[in-house]
Amino acid sequence: ATMPPLLSAIANAGRHGVLVKSAVVMERLGQVDRVALDKTGTLTEGAPRVADVRLLTGTVAEPEALTLAAAAELPSEHPLARAVVAAARERGLPVPAATAFSSTPGVGVRAVVDGRDVTVGRPTAPSDATREAEADGRTAVVVAVDGVPVAVLGIADRLREGAPAAVAALARLSGSAPTLLTGDNEPAARRIAAETGITDVRAGLLPEDKVAAVREWERAGRRTLVVGDGVNDAPALAAAHTGIAMGRAGSDLALETADAVVVRDELATVPAVVALSRRARGLVV
Ligand code: ADP
Ligand code: MG
Repeated sequence: ATMPPLLSAIANAGRHGVLVKSAVVMERLGQVDRVALDKTGTLTEGAPRVADVRLLTGTVAEPEALTLAAAAELPSEHPLARAVVAAARERGLPVPAATAFSSTPGVGVRAVVDGRDVTVGRPTAPSDATREAEADGRTAVVVAVDGVPVAVLGIADRLREGAPAAVAALARLSGSAPTLLTGDNEPAARRIAAETGITDVRAGLLPEDKVAAVREWERAGRRTLVVGDGVNDAPALAAAHTGIAMGRAGSDLALETADAVVVRDELATVPAVVALSRRARGLVV
């Protein structure tokens, strides 16, 4: 027997490095007419590095700030958390075990380290230090100890290879200009958007704001493809017409929630599976 077109397309998608979870998903991929991409870990490599450290008090020096921040971030799977832990390890600093760890998707982490309450995450209010870091196109992450901000880490991430081409292909296949949805700050978002050819940017979003954007498009009759990697993207992946998760560094929740998972870590596979779906459905690609 000849394989039905959608099943052949699933097999083909697998060869391209994308796990499509069902024939229904394979069919839906080719229907999308609106695309939204996450920034950190999706358009960027998701292997960011701490580029600079700005100290805010005379009492906590850089090694101590990094040790406390890394200890609090150690249980987190967020790319920024891995950057903070790597920065401490590279400097040969100890990373003690923390207790009472908690994380808030799109915001940051909190834990008790050596009896002190440590938070690491997005700025609650801009300061000179966060503005400086963001002016350099970096993600500003604030380290606070017992409620007092002690350091701002400027974290830099690189664009994925092939991101501009993938964005252009998605624009063509969907017939509309893709949107960047990110929890990160506006200047960092604008920089990555400019490098990838995206003009519609929504920055500073919480996970529920990403969902609201998707619902707004769906209400307007659009069929939205969301591409993301984080715990913070999971609700938007679920709300979308079709959700694709970046697999290598993606969070377990994103991989479970998404309709398809990019196993080969390349963004070019996303337009490739949309094109496969369109072909299977007899549409022009
Ligand atoms: P994106 O939408 O670009 O993937 P997120 O929604 O995951 O970004 O994060 C948004 C912002 O929240 C980050 O730019 C950072 O300031 C803060 N943040 C989230 N998780 C962490 C963490 N584990 N450590 C430090 N900061 C974090
Ligand atoms: Mg992300």
